[in-house]
Amino acid sequence: MKKSLLRNLALSVNRPGGGGLTLLLLLVVLVPSVCLLWFMNQAVQNERVAYRQKLLDLYQGQLALARKQLENYWSQTAQAAENGAGLEAPARFAELLKMADAAVCFDDAGKVAYPNAARLPPAETLPADWVEAQRLEPANPIAAAEEFGRLGQAATNAALAARAFQAQARCLIQARQTNAALEVLTNSLAQPRFQSAADAQGRLVAPAAELMALELLAASDPRWTSPVLERLRTQLLDYKDGAMPAAQRRFLMRRLENMFPAQARFPSLPAEDLAARYLESNPSLPPQAGLLATPLPGVWQFPVQTNAVLLFEGESLRARMLGLIGPGLLAEVEAAILPPGKSVESFLSMPAGPSMPGWQMALCWKDRRHFDAAADARIASLLWTGVLAVAAIVALGLLAAGLLRRQMAVTQLKNDLVANVTHELKTPLSSMRLLVDTLLNSPTLEEKTAREYLQLIARENLRLSHLIDNFLAFSRIERNKYAFDFQAVPSNQIVDSAAAAVRERFNTPGCQFTVQAPPDLPPVVADAGALVTALLNLLDNAYKYSGEAKSILLTAATRHRSVEFAVQDNGIGLAPAECGRIFRRFYQVDRRLSRTGSGCGLGLSIVKFIVAAHHGEVRVESQPERGSTFTITLPAAEGDRAGEAKA
Ligand code: ADP
Repeated sequence: MKKSLLRNLALSVNRPGGGGLTLLLLLVVLVPSVCLLWFMNQAVQNERVAYRQKLLDLYQGQLALARKQLENYWSQTAQAAENGAGLEAPARFAELLKMADAAVCFDDAGKVAYPNAARLPPAETLPADWVEAQRLEPANPIAAAEEFGRLGQAATNAALAARAFQAQARCLIQARQTNAALEVLTNSLAQPRFQSAADAQGRLVAPAAELMALELLAASDPRWTSPVLERLRTQLLDYKDGAMPAAQRRFLMRRLENMFPAQARFPSLPAEDLAARYLESNPSLPPQAGLLATPLPGVWQFPVQTNAVLLFEGESLRARMLGLIGPGLLAEVEAAILPPGKSVESFLSMPAGPSMPGWQMALCWKDRRHFDAAADARIASLLWTGVLAVAAIVALGLLAAGLLRRQMAVTQLKNDLVANVTHELKTPLSSMRLLVDTLLNSPTLEEKTAREYLQLIARENLRLSHLIDNFLAFSRIERNKYAFDFQAVPSNQIVDSAAAAVRERFNTPGCQFTVQAPPDLPPVVADAGALVTALLNLLDNAYKYSGEAKSILLTAATRHRSVEFAVQDNGIGLAPAECGRIFRRFYQVDRRLSRTGSGCGLGLSIVKFIVAAHHGEVRVESQPERGSTFTITLPAAEGDRAGEAKA
């Protein structure tokens, strides 16, 4: 099966243009192309993996660097936090806010020193008048106010006096006596001795009174709010004074921010809130700062050695980490720092370092396509190389196919030529030899017979020469050695030469040969010898392919700017389909004719070659059994308009 396939292939390869050749070529082109594409595919995949790995390594390096820097950052932060160790708790809290989102400070006993809880005053029994005033308050606030005012004036205890004035102001407000209430709040309660007076819940009375005054002023006469607001604001931002409980400070800050959004801003309020939330989540804090219990979700608690814990929120941690990673990397990726137990979809993550146990640093793609696009850009060049290589293989394959086909055609041609030459030369030689032998063997040499035989020999000789001329011409054409010597030649000279060459041969009983050419034909630029050869080939064919009664007409005429040489016969003619093929090399309509020594299929191909070299054309009009007319049209030599005028 395999053998026969190969044999068929070999056979078909030997035929120029066979399907086997196409198959072979397909194999020659396809096999390396497929292999190349396979390799390319592998290379592309490897490249993608390698590129991804390279990128990962790069990011890993960056992340490890960021982690190292984060560690340094923590140790620097811890050191910086130590610097303020000697400060009072609220001042230290304010100092620590420079390096953290919030902080909790402890005293030496390990108790929370800031955010400080309210210091509750010792329980005391209120005087009977106070109870009476409290009783009066809902129904008769004015009377209650008077009673509280009197109590305030009388009290020797500053805290009690302050609380009485505060209650007086409250009752006056209820009674809508704003001015009187303001008077109490801004005068009676503004005494320096009430500075640290606290109410029953431990809240400072003075700032609470100022807030009440502000509320009243804001509603009645906002112009007067500023000095009070400024005083209260300054007090709230003053972290040196540790008397005010943190909860009251937060409350007042928030209230003022709500009331006066433009004037009152407290940057430390979020830190106060965070610290408060933190303490709330750790109701029973262990005594030492380093051993804190429940962290807030997403909040990083960083204990520093001397009685403080720094608090960082997730977003601010991330911002700090981003600062360490550097902007170059962040154009492509998103960085995250994750508290214990939290995860995100990331392509790279690592522990955030010994300072942050359980925390992870992670990198996620901002846009995955960015990575693919970067990889694709690298791969594209590889693919282009592959495509070009495949294209080159195909082109080389086609070139090789063309050369192979041509080479096979030439080989075929040579084989045909050898066979034809041998055959063509042998036929006239055999007839000449037969004639010579007959003459030699004849006992008496009659002059008439001898002349007849010699004429026959001369004709065969002429035919032989003509054949050899054609073979030589063909050989030169094939080797590109056919040299033309173009000159302006009178057309009549060409007609006369061709007619003279055949006249003797055509001078037989059944052959009528006529030449028609006006004497004033324009010249043509031609190689006279080659053009006569072309006409002789046509005349020779006209003779060969005509029956017993031959009528051959050689004409020349001017048409427009051309000269037309035509050879007409009344011979066997040609089927329309044959008219195009007969100009191919070695093509014969009926191959049997060649075996009878009538030709080898070269004549018309030589005619076509010669005419093409003269920038002319040759055509045939023919009807089977009626005869054919072969016409050669050549451009008239430049400058001659005589023929044109006559045409
Ligand atoms: P050959 O040596 O066979 O004559 P040519 O190339 O001159 O080769 O002609 C090719 C074929 O064209 C011939 O074999 C013949 O079949 C056909 N042919 C050429 N001239 C004529 C003609 N005048 N009449 C009919 N057939 C012709």
